[in-house]
Amino acid sequence: MSQQDTTAPGPYPLPPWKRAVIKVGSALIAPDGRGVSTRYLLPLARLIAEKQREGKEIVLVSSGAVAAGQVFHAKSRPGARSLVEKQALAAMGQTSLIQMWSRFFDFPCAQILLTHDDILHRKRFVNAKNTLLTLIGMGALPIVNENDTVAVEELKVGDNDNLAAHVAVLIEADLLLIFSDIDGLYTADPRKHPDAELIRTVERVDASVLARAGGSGSSVGTGGMITKLQAAAKAADRGIDTVILNGKRGQAIDHLLNEQADGTFFQRTAQPQAAKKHWISHALPVQGRIVVDAGARRALLEDGASLLPSGVLDCSGDFQRGDAVAVVFRDSTGDQQLGKGIVQYNHADLLQIKGGQSSAIRERLGYAYTPVIIHRNDLVTQTTDTTAEETV
Ligand code: GLU
Repeated sequence: MSQQDTTAPGPYPLPPWKRAVIKVGSALIAPDGRGVSTRYLLPLARLIAEKQREGKEIVLVSSGAVAAGQVFHAKSRPGARSLVEKQALAAMGQTSLIQMWSRFFDFPCAQILLTHDDILHRKRFVNAKNTLLTLIGMGALPIVNENDTVAVEELKVGDNDNLAAHVAVLIEADLLLIFSDIDGLYTADPRKHPDAELIRTVERVDASVLARAGGSGSSVGTGGMITKLQAAAKAADRGIDTVILNGKRGQAIDHLLNEQADGTFFQRTAQPQAAKKHWISHALPVQGRIVVDAGARRALLEDGASLLPSGVLDCSGDFQRGDAVAVVFRDSTGDQQLGKGIVQYNHADLLQIKGGQSSAIRERLGYAYTPVIIHRNDLVTQTTDTTAEETV
């Protein structure tokens, strides 16, 4: 695991921040698996109100619509529901959720429902951003959830941890607070290993940190530690700190009131990715895979070059021009991902032009868009890809 401090005894002082996304998981909203309970929300609401009074800007990402909707549908049990049933429960539960949050505050709450499409498409992204920032300017509390009614398959972000990270990027937050029912990231799964230690700070969420997370821990929400780490990686790459903390522990909230992170603190990177590269790394889904030779690997990683057809050995996946693909180097130990980029030719075209010179593209295809397969400005190397395996 990369540099982290497991020995620090107490809470970690938060770097100064102005704008935060606070994500509250279903386990806190519906501790009994259904309905909405004030039990853990009251202290969280106090935290939000106090921070707003101090002049901080907050956007809340609240899960729990499906769980809240459960009370209207006695026969459905968690785990035994079709997607469309969950969507219906979310639609019923969402109103209870907003009503519950609204009761706590003397400023207005605003409901924002988003899908992955809203993050992927520039115009919708900018529209969402403008609305959110205007609401903040008006002193309202935007409350975001996934638009479960329309979010099926490719439209889904899938979990609210990753959604919260996208929202943090969208509003250019400096802090992402993820409240769950676990104290933070442990050295091992604490439910199976009682001697597991809480990790207080993580400098970089790389593939080895992601590999350490188990599956979904609670039976109520859709995430787990893996989606929280993906969220932290997304945020860090855009210059946003993340804290994962236990919303069931009043003490963790008290510490936050004093600007102390009592959980696991994930440090932002010192060199944040530019918006376009971040979008490629963390928002675009991978639609295929391009296998390159050793010469191309060197050119991409050491010289910062574009990928040319001559360096392509093979490709797979039904990708179209403009899709994101993984660029890999293959040897006897398997595939090593070198980067991720936007491809200029579709799968069928690339099969015809791979291995050849750029000057031969027109001859082979009858047309040529560009001499490169992936332009260097559309390629991200040395990144943690957080778009894979997002749960539904
Ligand atoms: N959108 C889902 C809900 O409100 C929650 C997804 C999640 O828990 O990550 O019920």
